[in-house]
Amino acid sequence: MDRKILLIYTGGTIGMKQDPDTLLLKPFDFTQILQEVPELRKFGFQIDTISFDPVIDSSDAKPEFWVDLARLIREHYDAYCGFVVLHGTDTMAYTASALSFMLENLEKPVILTGSQLPIGMLRTDGKQNLIDAIELAADIGPDGHPCVSEVCIYFETELFRGNRTTKYNAENFSAFRSANYPALAEVGIHIRYNRPALFRPDQWGKPLRIHTDLDTHVAVLKIFPGISEAFVRSVLSAEGLRAVVLETYGSGNALSDAWFLDALTGFTAGGGIVVNITQCQAGSVDMGAYANGDTLRKAGVVCGYDLTTEAALTKLFVLLGQYADNKEVRELFRICESGEFSQK
Ligand code: ASP
Repeated sequence: MDRKILLIYTGGTIGMKQDPDTLLLKPFDFTQILQEVPELRKFGFQIDTISFDPVIDSSDAKPEFWVDLARLIREHYDAYCGFVVLHGTDTMAYTASALSFMLENLEKPVILTGSQLPIGMLRTDGKQNLIDAIELAADIGPDGHPCVSEVCIYFETELFRGNRTTKYNAENFSAFRSANYPALAEVGIHIRYNRPALFRPDQWGKPLRIHTDLDTHVAVLKIFPGISEAFVRSVLSAEGLRAVVLETYGSGNALSDAWFLDALTGFTAGGGIVVNITQCQAGSVDMGAYANGDTLRKAGVVCGYDLTTEAALTKLFVLLGQYADNKEVRELFRICESGEFSQK
């Protein structure tokens, strides 16, 4: 396979440079990336670049942006052995999660990376992240197939499964964490792949399919001590709402007040989907562990195991976009599609 990498710049800090006059950060012409990072020439493989126009701060990312990205990858899928997506860190975990569900039968690396300091600054973490991500995206395994065949986030020496990742540090170079799934690779003197943790297709050569109908009639509801009935009922009665990601305590517990269970039961009985995930950074929901979790199960709540909020939300967007029937979505949601949760 030819080592051809497509570098897609969507925006974010990584592609910024300090204006020498105003000292403000401004995006630079990304087609000139080789001038900023001349080291890339040393790889000896072809690196083509495409820049979004306009580039965005990733806090402006929307499902339409994910659709553009998925289409771009499909359009160039056969011509490249891997894709590196430069993206702002703020919503990188959402984009990576969404792409993992939108790109069906993906067999090539799609590696998102970015930086905490702009690439045009002396102490930038962007150069190393970019160089490492390209090397990972171009790496071919002993079986002749790409070492990585899934959507990942690479940051500060670690490659993570995209839909397991969350941004957890707003300042540190090590900005991402995958608390419930091991790193797929560690980059030091050598690149050490965690081969048992990497996704491998059961059969190579299936055509890439992309899902571009996303239904965003989903809410994220984080419970807290003192949450009011009026607030919960107003969320659940939002027009057109089809699903709720319920962020509960610990192993999936929530308040046992009759009004709360009544509100949830009313929503699920009307066909709405409620997915239970934990507010904890690590660990999994187990609705059989405590009486307060069990009452949620009885209220028709679906176990979200150790899904991240980003993965639960975007998986619902993609499934609801494909199926008009909530019952079907509810069943399909329980199936692990892209390695996004660990089922006990
Ligand atoms: N606000 C920026 C973004 O997410 C921060 C970054 O690039 O890290 O686009």
